[in-house]
Amino acid sequence: MNIHEYQAKELLAKYGIGIPAGYAALTVEEAVAGAKQLPGPLYVVKAQIHAGGRGKGKFKELGPDAKGGVRLAKSVEEVEANAKEMLGNTLVTVQTGEAGKQVNRLYVTDGVDIASEYYLSMLVDRASGRVAMIVSTEGGMDIEQVAHDTPEKITTITIDPAQGFMPHHGRAVAFALNLTGDLNKQAQKLSRQLYTAFMDLDCEMLEINPLVETEDGKLLVLDTKMSFDSNALYRHKDVEALRDVTEEDPAEVEASEYDLAYIKLDGSIGCMVNGAGLAMATMDIIKLNGAFPANFLDVGGGANREKVTAAFKIILKDPAVEGILVNIFGGIMKCDVIADGIVAAAKDVNLSVPLVVRLEGTNVEQGKEILDNSGLPIVSADDLGDAARKIVAEVKQAA
Ligand code: GDP
Ligand code: MG
Repeated sequence: MNIHEYQAKELLAKYGIGIPAGYAALTVEEAVAGAKQLPGPLYVVKAQIHAGGRGKGKFKELGPDAKGGVRLAKSVEEVEANAKEMLGNTLVTVQTGEAGKQVNRLYVTDGVDIASEYYLSMLVDRASGRVAMIVSTEGGMDIEQVAHDTPEKITTITIDPAQGFMPHHGRAVAFALNLTGDLNKQAQKLSRQLYTAFMDLDCEMLEINPLVETEDGKLLVLDTKMSFDSNALYRHKDVEALRDVTEEDPAEVEASEYDLAYIKLDGSIGCMVNGAGLAMATMDIIKLNGAFPANFLDVGGGANREKVTAAFKIILKDPAVEGILVNIFGGIMKCDVIADGIVAAAKDVNLSVPLVVRLEGTNVEQGKEILDNSGLPIVSADDLGDAARKIVAEVKQAA
C-alpha cells in the first residue's frame, strides 16, 4: 500500500526526522490558509499523487510551457495562483503512464534553500534477506539513470535483522554521502531514525529523493515515498487509515473487496486461475504462444460461483481484453462445481469474448461435460499448453 508524501512526512516526523513544515490542502482556500501559517518568503506547492517525477511532470490541460507538479512560490498570492492552476487538473509524469493522475490534493510547504541534494532509500532486499539502505550523492534526479550511467555512485548497505542497526551502519551512510563534521553526525542519526521507522511500520520501501543539505547546514527530507507490506497492515490501523483508494486502480480495489488477487497488465488475454504459482505459469505460457496476459488473477482456493462471477466482471471491464483463459486445478474444490460456477458466471455477464477453460483434478470429466452441454461457446482444453494455444488462436480468429 502506498501513501501520499505529506502523510509519509507526518509519520517520519514522529520519529524526530527533520522535514520542512507544511499543510495538506484539498481546496485553494485551504492552500492559502496553509501558506499563511508558514514563515515564507519561499513556499512550495506540491501535487499529491501516488507517483514520482512530479517536478518534471506536465499538466494535460495546461500548455507545454506550464510549470509541473512541484512549484516554488514567492508569496501567498503565488501559492493561490498555483493552487488554482493545479487542483483538478491531470498531471502526467514518467511514473503515471500516459493517462496521468488527477490532482485532488496539494501540499504547501516551507521553501528550503538547498545546498546539496542526496538520495537515500530503504527496501527489503530479497537476495540478502535483509533491509538494504541505498545511498547516493546524486540526489534529486532520476536514480535509475544514475544506476545505469554511474553505478559506482550508488552504495548499498545491508543490515542484519538479528543484530539491528549498528553505529557502523550510520557511519557508512554518512561516509557514502561524503559528509563531514556536524552533517556527518546528522546523517548517522537520521539513518538510525529511518531504520527504526521502517521496521516499526512494516515498510516495504522508503525512498527519500532528495534528502537535502540546507544552506544553514541541516539535513532535511524534502521528498519521500513510502509503501507498506499489505500483509502487515492489520498491525497498523493508523497506517491503514491513510489508504487513498482514489489513487489505486479501480479494478484492483474491487478485486480486493472479493478477496481476489488481481493485478492489471498490458496484454489482451484475461486470465482467471487458482493459485499464484499456476497463475504465473499461465501468464508465461500465454507469452510463449505469442500473446500477452491482460492481468494476473488468483481466485484463491475457495473459488465459488460468486467469486468466479466477480472475477469475470473485473476481467471484462478492461477494454483491452480480447479473450479469457480459465485455468483451474480442482483439488479441494471439485471440477464439476467449478464448471457450474463458470457456466453461471458466463451467462450472468453475457460473455462476449472467446473463453477457453482448462480444468484438471477431481471430477474433471463431469466438469468438462457441464461445459460442453452449457450451450455456450466455451472451448475446453486438456492441458496448459493446449489451453494457451487455443485461446491465442481463438483471439486471432475473432480479430
Ligand atoms: P518529485 O519531482 O515528484 O520527485 O518531487 P520533489 O519533491 O522531489 O521535488 C522535485 C524537485 O523540486 C526537487 O528535487 C528540488 O530540486 C525542487 N524542490 C522541492 N522542494 C523545494 C524547496 O523547498 N526548495 C527548493 N529550492 N527546491 C525544491
Ligand atoms: Mg523526488
